[in-house]
Amino acid sequence: MMDTTVKEPMTFEELGLSEATHKALAKMGITQPTEVQRKTIPLMMDGYDIIAKAPTGTGKTCAFGIPLLECLDMGCRDIQAVVVCPTRELCVQITQELRDLAAYRQEVRIVSLYGGMPMGKQLDALKKKPHIVVATPGRLLDHMKRGTAYIGNVYTAVLDEADEMLKMGFIKDVRRILGETPADTQVVMFSATMSREVMDVAWEYQKNAVEITVAASGENRPKIAQFVMHAEGDARVRELTRLIDTLDLHRVMVFCNTKSTVRWLDLKLRRQGRSVDCLHGDIPQTQRNRVMAAYRRGDFEIMIATDVAARGIDVDDVEAVFNFDIPEENEYYLHRIGRTGRAKRCGVAFTFMSLTIPHDDTYRLRDIKKYTHSDILDVVWDEEGNAVLKEDGTRITTLIENGVQSRVYEEGENE
Ligand code: ADP
Ligand code: MG
Repeated sequence: MMDTTVKEPMTFEELGLSEATHKALAKMGITQPTEVQRKTIPLMMDGYDIIAKAPTGTGKTCAFGIPLLECLDMGCRDIQAVVVCPTRELCVQITQELRDLAAYRQEVRIVSLYGGMPMGKQLDALKKKPHIVVATPGRLLDHMKRGTAYIGNVYTAVLDEADEMLKMGFIKDVRRILGETPADTQVVMFSATMSREVMDVAWEYQKNAVEITVAASGENRPKIAQFVMHAEGDARVRELTRLIDTLDLHRVMVFCNTKSTVRWLDLKLRRQGRSVDCLHGDIPQTQRNRVMAAYRRGDFEIMIATDVAARGIDVDDVEAVFNFDIPEENEYYLHRIGRTGRAKRCGVAFTFMSLTIPHDDTYRLRDIKKYTHSDILDVVWDEEGNAVLKEDGTRITTLIENGVQSRVYEEGENE
């Protein structure tokens, strides 16, 4: 019988990429394309507009990065591709990943433009005629107004984390940017959810866009064991460090709801002589970059952050995520725990919840469970000092070793 379904390429070889890209992927330790990459790369190389919905940690950066690099015209002196993303951190991270992919193409110039950094360096870099610009909307517009970045000949525009970006109030800026690109520019949008704003922008600037949906299931489903522990106020510091010590964790992220809690916790752990640093909105950009880079290198073990400061950050091998405060929005919960269990590794997430009125988190937790379709299991300490399931006394270490997975969300969009 004949198979009439269109076959998706299963390997990078089948995608017909250049030798330089194959070598770069090998160097990055990437061997098999993920689903979003298998679906996006061929279409993007064929010039289609794309709107792709895929959960975090599924490899979207390479999904657009590979086609961008493969399709560059090295003879052209204008900017050929712009990648627009919501935060400075993400900007730095995407630029780094693109540079890794371009490791064997010395002649490719990639520049990142974002606020909070001196203009001088960016101006110098722009004078060297970059092929690809990765930018936050505000700073890119600045450069466009000054005439230092010309995007009137751009071949491809990528909007990464489009839902976040539009939700953060960048919709006007994004419209202005897309409005300056040629009418036939290929517009590629990536988003974890399909918000109203995302659909509006797609409708306005895309032509016959191909829709790609990658569900958070099967191979893409992050393997994250999710736990909750009752602890409030100062007691959380003790439980946090006890869990870190007994589970022998050396690479964790701790999320707090406010800057002041981040500062407070940072100080507490520092005084205990712990290997810790933090990210929040009041820290100057240059220092934030240093902290991020140091954490990525493994120079310190515990990263404490607010949601905004950590948005979109990809750090490899986070062993566990702690919700020091229960997140105020369901989506934040997914974003936070998405830092662990990425790219098929198994991860662990702990949430501290309070049971004391007026801070009774029972309903918040129930809401999160519903939103994420997840079981979040109660953890207590047994007499021997092991963290165990309240339900049946199973040790958490055993669960983690066996790669247990709480039943995780199918789609993160049902409100
Ligand atoms: P997303 O944008 O979908 O959240 P990223 O692009 O940040 O995900 O990728 C998450 C991590 O997975 C990165 O460290 C990246 O290098 C890695 N990665 C990307 N593609 C692959 C792949 N095909 N195989 C293994 N790891 C990959
Ligand atoms: Mg991404």
